[in-house]
Amino acid sequence: MRIDGHTLVLGLIGDPVEHTLSPLIHNTFAEKLHINSAYLPFHVRNEEDALEKAVHGAFSLGITGLNVTVPYKTEVIKYLVSVDPLAAKIGAVNTLVRTSDGYTGCNTDILGLERDLKRHGVCLEKLSEVLIIGAGGAARAAACLCGERGVRSLYVINRSYERAKALAEDLHRYFPGMEIVLLSDSDNDARKLPDGILAIQCTSAGLYPDTDTLPVQSGEIYRRIGFAYDLIYTPKETAFLKKCRSSGREGTECVNGTGMLLYQAAASYERWMQAAGAGGSIDTGILDEIGRKLFLQTGRNTQGSIVLTGFMGSGKTTVGKELAEMLGLKLLDTDCIIEQREGRSINEIFADEGEAYFRDLETGLLRELAGKDRQEAAVYATGGGIVLRDENRELLHKAGTVVWLRVTAADVVRRLEGDSTRPLLEGEDKEQRIARLIAMREDLYSESADIIIDAGSLTARKIAAGIMEKTGYGGQHENSGDQRAES
Ligand code: NDP
Repeated sequence: MRIDGHTLVLGLIGDPVEHTLSPLIHNTFAEKLHINSAYLPFHVRNEEDALEKAVHGAFSLGITGLNVTVPYKTEVIKYLVSVDPLAAKIGAVNTLVRTSDGYTGCNTDILGLERDLKRHGVCLEKLSEVLIIGAGGAARAAACLCGERGVRSLYVINRSYERAKALAEDLHRYFPGMEIVLLSDSDNDARKLPDGILAIQCTSAGLYPDTDTLPVQSGEIYRRIGFAYDLIYTPKETAFLKKCRSSGREGTECVNGTGMLLYQAAASYERWMQAAGAGGSIDTGILDEIGRKLFLQTGRNTQGSIVLTGFMGSGKTTVGKELAEMLGLKLLDTDCIIEQREGRSINEIFADEGEAYFRDLETGLLRELAGKDRQEAAVYATGGGIVLRDENRELLHKAGTVVWLRVTAADVVRRLEGDSTRPLLEGEDKEQRIARLIAMREDLYSESADIIIDAGSLTARKIAAGIMEKTGYGGQHENSGDQRAES
């Protein structure tokens, strides 16, 4: 990065700011667009007049633009020369753009949300009903966006009823034509929801480290959701998305907030550059590249590793190779590592020492991979029986985001035809034997999986692209033609 007398200085103000991903995003924009800008986090402590001094001080220092985060998105409005009308309705700004007299404020969070929804084929203008879960700042922004785009009925559920009521009152004032239905978190109330509704999850329930927390409990709510959008992106598959996928309607689409994060940043950066006369338009190639960087940083653990599980023949190694290539990571195959360390094949280890010995080696290796001091992210292809031990299933979670490649017995037989190294594939009625084994392990795979991919009829490249898509940002691969056959 070049820093000189012409550098356009950008930054983030908030308290805290230590965990922000914004510098990574904005400094990559600068690098890719060859623009001389630098983005820094500024920790503005939540103390008397600190925010006012920070905003005025930033203007005096010639800072081109700022993002604003918790807890200042509302309070900062007092120190601006103007606010765009939608941000004023929301009552929160996240972007300050320099003008000749001071900063003007806007809210690019909602632009990011709208753009990411569109990327997934959801156009709010065409929807009659939307469910908003939450009533905090982000819920208010999502609700106002729905109002602006003409959604006729907005259903709102929030833990505290009072806050939901206050949001409903504001929405009535701003969007008198929009029906607001406040629901409690009960099966009875949930029956009022139209089937297949778009749900925008705007609470902080499920955010790392409290990753098991669900924002709503009623099973009927999950059964009504046809498209689930969760603003949270850490972890990649939140408890909410997981529940929608497992207990919701068949085929519910589930998306996390990584795309929103990326698109709001792009909208902020473009506004700053436009105001500074530096131009620069962020294309999808740049967004994809940053999406991949974010993908690696927004996992449940900071390493961003991906762990592939599944029955033999589910394609863990082949998919692992594709995925590792896409992400620029190493592929580590647990069976191969054990074979190398032992100097003999898995079949030989089983025959010489028995299964318990092999499982001990496997658990020992998993402990290393899940260890806190492991710095480097990787893609792990694991042995088919790794989920059999309780401890292993815990360790898999610690090692990274667990993806179960689900296949049927018929898939396994078809894929491994001609493979003479697997005793299970010898003899008659092999499909029934494999089906029985898969049925015995299914619950264990499911229990340990963050993400489930039906891998039977897809090529390795499509599966890898699907993993990218489900765990974060996979835009680059959305339309990629796939001519390669899976081995
Ligand atoms: P606020 O603090 O303003 O609101 C928090 C909301 O979460 C409230 O509705 C609160 O309910 C609810 N809530 C908190 N804990 C629970 C729980 N255990 N069970 C049920 N509900 C709960 O936060 P924001 O609105 O600013 O942010 C919400 C989330 O959105 C955050 O996780 C944030 O990271 C994410 N976000 C993501 C963005 C992106 O770019 N992807 C952009 C902006 C936000 P109650 O009113 O009862 O307290």
